[in-house]
Amino acid sequence: MSTYDITIIGSGPGGYVAAIRCAQLGMKTALIEKYDTLGGTCLNVGCIPSKALLDSSEHFHNVTHNFAEHGIDVKEVKANIEQMINRKNAVVEQTCAGVKFLMDKNDIDVHHGLGSFINKNTIKVVATDKSETTISTKNVIIATGSKPNFFPGMKPDKKRIITSTEALNLKEIPKKMLVIGGGVIGLELGSVFGRLGTQIDVVEFAPKIIPTMDGTMSKELTKVLKKEGFKFHLQHKVQKVTNTGKGVKVVALNKKNEEVTLEADYCLVAVGRKPFTQGLGFENAGVKLNDKGQVEVNDNLQTNVPNIFAIGDVVRGAMLAHKAEEEGVYVAEFLAGQKPHLNYNLIPGVIYTWPEVASVGKTEEELKEAGKAIKIGQFPIKALGRARASMDTLGTIKIIADEETDEVLGVHMIAPRAADLIMEAVVAMEYRASAEDIARICHPHPTYSEGVKEAALSATENRPLHI
Ligand code: FAD
Ligand code: NAD
Repeated sequence: MSTYDITIIGSGPGGYVAAIRCAQLGMKTALIEKYDTLGGTCLNVGCIPSKALLDSSEHFHNVTHNFAEHGIDVKEVKANIEQMINRKNAVVEQTCAGVKFLMDKNDIDVHHGLGSFINKNTIKVVATDKSETTISTKNVIIATGSKPNFFPGMKPDKKRIITSTEALNLKEIPKKMLVIGGGVIGLELGSVFGRLGTQIDVVEFAPKIIPTMDGTMSKELTKVLKKEGFKFHLQHKVQKVTNTGKGVKVVALNKKNEEVTLEADYCLVAVGRKPFTQGLGFENAGVKLNDKGQVEVNDNLQTNVPNIFAIGDVVRGAMLAHKAEEEGVYVAEFLAGQKPHLNYNLIPGVIYTWPEVASVGKTEEELKEAGKAIKIGQFPIKALGRARASMDTLGTIKIIADEETDEVLGVHMIAPRAADLIMEAVVAMEYRASAEDIARICHPHPTYSEGVKEAALSATENRPLHI
């Protein structure tokens, strides 16, 4: 039987990063993954493939909508979905192979197969050919991630009623797609197909899309996506989705409780994800779940069984790759006797629409509900020289600061490259900067980052320069 200091179950961004950090800290490390490739949801069917298709479809959108104004005449433009999927698959393959390389480089033993507890220090790995390996281990990290969720009446059949995984591999560009859920997946994958010519109808339970983000972002993104041709059916409660053979039929109740029927070629179910703990044999180790089905952990990501930890989508908090990674590093360093630090308030969130939406810290709604006295500075992207030069004029940057101390409490933006721009705010907030601190920093011209400075100027003294 192989013996390890640490065994990690699941090779997503949480698990594989935890493995690297444990190995760097001198632990004999094993990583268990049930699939043939490493990288989990994020690399195989999540972050990486969705961004690959978002980039391809954005190029197509630019050729068909913006090139002519830039003075570039292109004739007979055609979207080749097969090539887009092939390129996406190649990107995924390279990225997963990169993780394998990192495991080898760090002397991490990878065991492919389904991992489950025999007891708190013994793990069984059953490979696809049914061969079994038993591992003895001092500590364990559960990093088994999540799976798509669905509600009664909308169970995906993976043919016409699909989840993100099937949407990333569609062989055709649908004429019409219904998306249940106006959250991150629905709007990102809706954007991919919308840009390729699919009519996207979003059916959302809440009164607004991206309901947990700052209200201004929801409003601005709604405007942007409507301009792209999205239709929104808000406050609609889906009752039943049926595969009609050639398409789908969705029956929902609107806010007046009237029945509404919508039809399309495909229905993408994107109503959140649920923690994945199936087949892990928790009963053999005594690991407890909470009432949401997440592995229950304390502030050090330790379960009720002291040598077993859990990280990433399978525990509480945002279901994000970078959150999972930071938790992996946290546990590795905690086990090595260090005092790691993880600020959950400063985990940025991004939606990769175009323009992108990015956010860190508290929303206006959260701060108002907490009774905090705040001041808000906002700057429109269209007032930036860089935006006009590139013809990317949609969006706004919003900075919320403490009324009294001027400390930045939240930054929310819908802007070109917001995914990268948000990091200025994250760094500033990590060092507890005031809005004036950001406003007094010299920003390069012409860049989108000048919008951050201008929003900070607006927040601190209401004196933007360029508006
Ligand atoms: P996962 O990545 O889910 O990995 C868990 C792994 O554990 C899997 O490989 C699974 O096979 C394995 N496993 C499970 N049980 C066992 C077992 N018993 N034995 C062995 N192996 C097991 N997040 C972002 O931050 N940015 C994005 O742009 C982004 N885009 C996304 C797009 C889509 C379409 C989706 C679906 C998700 C996206 N996410 C994004 C979310 C991100 O993918 C997850 O937050 C992240 O993958 C969670 O990492 P994890 O390590 O906790 O789990
Ligand atoms: P989500 O929580 O972002 O959005 C789900 C949406 O569905 C919400 O707006 C919710 O109100 C709505 N909804 C819930 N039940 C409904 C119902 N019965 N009818 C209609 N609407 C309903 O979830 P998601 O988009 O499925 O994404 C899952 C997770 O994956 C998210 O937590 C997200 O963090 C992660 N993810 C992240 C990224 C990124 O970082 N760019 C991209 C994709 C996914």
